[in-house]
Amino acid sequence: MRNENLIDTHMHIEEWVNDECEFIDCFEKHREESDLRSLNICTVPTKQRNFCNNIMCALYKLAHPNTYIHGGFDHMIYPITENMPEGMDLVTQYRELMEIGFDGIKLIEGKPIVLKTLGNDLNHPALDKLYSEMEKDGTHIVFHINDPVDCWDITKTSQEFIDKGWFYGDGTYLTYEETYNQALKLFENHPNLKATLAHFFFCGDMPERVIELFEKYPNICVDLTPGCEMYHSFERMHDYYREFFKKYSNRVLLGTDGTFPWATKSHVWCIDILSRFIATNDKMMAFDDSILTGLGIGGEAKENMFYKNYERRVGSTPKPINKEALKDYIHKHWHLLSKDEQDHLVPYVKKYVVGSEN
Ligand SMILES: [Zn+2]
Repeated sequence: MRNENLIDTHMHIEEWVNDECEFIDCFEKHREESDLRSLNICTVPTKQRNFCNNIMCALYKLAHPNTYIHGGFDHMIYPITENMPEGMDLVTQYRELMEIGFDGIKLIEGKPIVLKTLGNDLNHPALDKLYSEMEKDGTHIVFHINDPVDCWDITKTSQEFIDKGWFYGDGTYLTYEETYNQALKLFENHPNLKATLAHFFFCGDMPERVIELFEKYPNICVDLTPGCEMYHSFERMHDYYREFFKKYSNRVLLGTDGTFPWATKSHVWCIDILSRFIATNDKMMAFDDSILTGLGIGGEAKENMFYKNYERRVGSTPKPINKEALKDYIHKHWHLLSKDEQDHLVPYVKKYVVGSEN
């Protein structure tokens, strides 16, 4: 499908370069080939520390200003504590990101493997303070909470997931229900939090849980970033979900989870499946090669999900980067980066941030 005004609201950068391009341009071919209205890059601490990945996102936006970015936190001390080193507490980190020109925040803190390293408490006072600030500011959050329920059952967890450390049934992780209940408590404490729950909040089989959140909390949305398991549920309950997405079209966002260094064609393929799932009646081979039937939703409901919800929640254009604030951030955190991260960043910082001064 072409010219559909889509925003890919959930992407990541993990690497510096692949055989197509460098990170600084890595989603531009996707933008062009998928006719994207815009895209949103969310910081992840996978291959680099969050400090480094935040800087990469900000550099990307300097190179391509029509890009939204969501920054992330470095907790530094594990399990999490309220006694962070001077100037490194989460609220200060948050303020710095907002000052630089991040459009929102990415929280991966609710993913069981991360939550465990933090101390298995999604409502820890240090996090709670942060939620209060973001709630007060109306800051948009792409929030990953929980994981597919099969990750707790060794007979159902794929080898790929086990290799990634995403099997949670050994007793050291919160259970699926415990994580879910901690999230409910979080929303009760912060009823106006503007959170978009990634991957349909892992509730494809229990849409009533998503509906309950929608009905109670006006600012909660979900994204349809795969998560192939939720598409099995959408297919199994096809008619139900057609009505669901029509009724709640103002609460749903689309994203691919497209991650550099994956090839551009994988993001292009994914957003094509997502848009056809919403807007056509096509039968297609979707994620993990299962059949997916399009919902055939058009008009305002389609436009809401394709881009209007995102623009309403985050802004109709991305915020500009404040170079002085970015310079201060790089200066402050430079000593926390690895030598490898520093070496990779130097030419980009020179080109995009300090310009001719250096
Ligand atoms: Zn993601």
